[in-house]
Amino acid sequence: MAPAGPWRAAAAAAGLLGEDGIARPTIFAEMSALALATGAINLGQGFPDDDGPESVKRVAADALLGGLNQYPPGPGIPELRRAIAAHQSRHYGLDLDVEDEILVTTGATEAIAATLLALVSPGDGVITLEPFYDAYAAMIALAGGEHLTVPLHPTVQGFRPDLQALVEAAAHPAARIVLLNSPHNPTGAVLAPAELQRVADLAIEHGLIVVTDEVYEHLTFDGVTHVPIATLPGMAERTLTISSVGKTFSFTGWKVGWVSGPARLVDAVRAVKQFLTYVSGAPFQPAVAHALDLETTDEPEAGYVAQLAASLARRRDLLVDALEGAGMSTVRPEGTYFVIADATGVIERLGLADAAALCRAMPELCGVVAVPVSAFTRAGSASATALRNHVRFTFTKSEASIRQAALRLPRLAG
Ligand SMILES: *Cc1c(COP(=O)(O)O)cnc(C)c1O
Repeated sequence: MAPAGPWRAAAAAAGLLGEDGIARPTIFAEMSALALATGAINLGQGFPDDDGPESVKRVAADALLGGLNQYPPGPGIPELRRAIAAHQSRHYGLDLDVEDEILVTTGATEAIAATLLALVSPGDGVITLEPFYDAYAAMIALAGGEHLTVPLHPTVQGFRPDLQALVEAAAHPAARIVLLNSPHNPTGAVLAPAELQRVADLAIEHGLIVVTDEVYEHLTFDGVTHVPIATLPGMAERTLTISSVGKTFSFTGWKVGWVSGPARLVDAVRAVKQFLTYVSGAPFQPAVAHALDLETTDEPEAGYVAQLAASLARRRDLLVDALEGAGMSTVRPEGTYFVIADATGVIERLGLADAAALCRAMPELCGVVAVPVSAFTRAGSASATALRNHVRFTFTKSEASIRQAALRLPRLAG
């Protein structure tokens, strides 16, 4: 008998299930398996080759060996909530109450899932940019919401949101939530202050709640800075801000995240979180607190995050040059781990159907793995059509791996 449940119908309608009704392996799993099987360099899935700061690992190890292995407090240990509040205050001037305006979660992923389950009623519209982080579509379906999207278009100034489409989505009668992501995966766009102001104006005009995924908040390049939308006038009271340890500190396997905002909204999220995972990663929590505080200390690794961003910018430049040299055109990312390349020329020359076909052929053609941008769009959408020949590459791998990939990619140019 086929498994059933409210999510399955919604997920099937959203195109998230295979024809047999079983969840398809994600393109990331498929491509990572291909990389393993062929020995290709994996520039598909975005996780770093190098772990984060040694001193942070040591705090986790000491906590584990020292006996911090039972249920921590539901909202997160006080020390971590204090470090999160201090971080938001230091970087953005946001003033948070440690007691009821911060919730520690199992990665940003659980923060987003619990937030949508808490705030979305069946049929409510959730607006995201498109392309979008692939989990958003599944989580919106899980919550019974309707996914409304606003295209990002490639321009000489990076990928930029279609502001007319934004106005229309915000005015949609079902619209209830804007699920923002900046710096943006997969495009590397960092929303500019004027774009954020537009989102804020529309949210206020239409009474929308803004949920903002800021996991790449510190990974921006060329002097571009990330502005949390919660800092705009009138926005703190209607915004839930989400981040995590994974990207900022190169510990993507730790899965410790947090959500902050007004007590009434954080409380609604906590009500769901307590029945999802109940609590999160006891021995990691003091380590994450240490990571967030690191920059305020005179420890040798105090400059870790700034150095990581600078190093990522260099690796971006290497990869962008290699992609251009391989006959693709790129839109230079302002942040994140990722760059998108338009592979139309390569695809046409090889007589392939689209970027998905190119990605399946790339391990054999050039010994590099990447993922098609179609993994981040909705089947049949305007973005899916416009970006069908686009490929996402990560530059979060070691400089040696990027240089190796740079030697191989020109094989695509023929
Ligand atoms: C990696 C990523 C996440 C997941 O973060 P975790 O803390 O590992 O759960 C969420 N959103 C975006 C945009 C990401 O790239």
